[in-house]
Amino acid sequence: MTGLLLQNVTKVHQGSPPVAALQSVTVGIGPGEFAAIVGPSGSGKSTLLAVAGTLERPTSGTVQVAGIAVDGLPDRDLSGIRAAHLGFVFQQFHLLAGLSAADNVASGLLYRGVPAARRRRAAAAALEQVGLAHRARHRPGELSGGECQRVAIARALIGSPAIILADEPTGSLDTVTGAGILALLGELNARGHTIVVVTHSREVAAAIPRRIQLRDGRVEHDSQTP
Ligand code: ADP
Ligand code: MG
Repeated sequence: MTGLLLQNVTKVHQGSPPVAALQSVTVGIGPGEFAAIVGPSGSGKSTLLAVAGTLERPTSGTVQVAGIAVDGLPDRDLSGIRAAHLGFVFQQFHLLAGLSAADNVASGLLYRGVPAARRRRAAAAALEQVGLAHRARHRPGELSGGECQRVAIARALIGSPAIILADEPTGSLDTVTGAGILALLGELNARGHTIVVVTHSREVAAAIPRRIQLRDGRVEHDSQTP
């Protein structure tokens, strides 16, 4: 399984005034690690995750995903790299209301030329992995918040990505439900997935082996560095 490496990454969001969301960030997340990105609101956590996940390009610096230097690659190659190596989970689940859980999960394979029967089988297997096989035919409106987040995690897992990037995955959930989602991410890590979780919750962060703390777009502390 594979990791991520950002070197001297700066990200300036254009606008008036421009915002330097990341300032010379160097951080490596090794294969099989489970890391939390923590820090106050506005400290650059989401930007860091988006840049690490090739959803946004850095203004300067270099990014490697699974050992591949992604700088300067065309968008088409970046989507290929995301499809092969990365799964994304967000606070707001981003499920399609009109689709069943199984179809939401299968939609992760829609644009990859996978035939429908294989998409269905893969979706069933992914729902099984998150403990939701019995909810496959339900739509998001018939599921709890925690169940919706499990569906979203199953969708992230569908292409068997080595790396899962989750931005505030427990942010919309009560404490007990959130703890269940965190435990699920821990299980996926135990099965070999590299996991990076953005959180502003101390409780969530305390349960994650490594904590990388941002402030004003810089790494203020990394629990792995002595
Ligand atoms: P966090 O996730 O830690 O709350 P963000 O990475 O979302 O922080 O934001 C870091 C800084 O960059 C903030 O000042 C935010 O307002 C700014 N920012 C984030 N995204 C954009 C954007 N698309 N355009 C302009 N400014 C942005
Ligand atoms: Mg954020």
